[in-house]
Amino acid sequence: MDACQVTSPEKVTVEELDQSDRRLGLKCCECHRFRYMRTHRYPANTIVSKIARKLRCAQCGSEDVRTFPVERHPGTGYWPAEGS
Ligand SMILES: [Zn+2]
Repeated sequence: MDACQVTSPEKVTVEELDQSDRRLGLKCCECHRFRYMRTHRYPANTIVSKIARKLRCAQCGSEDVRTFPVERHPGTGYWPAEGS
């Protein structure tokens, strides 16, 4: 899964994310930094993919970032690792 290749992001809200055992991922399309974000400061009806519009990458400063739902690995149950 590469969020930077997605042309039509899911219309998942923060509330749906929290209720479905998914986490909020943030990916930078410039330097490929990947981090998880907390959702508590966003209203429940916030569309996950729109959160990225107000963000920059903390590492390279790019505005070309994506926010998207992240699921556990279906086999192992582990969350994908953060990386830069
Ligand atoms: Zn970056």
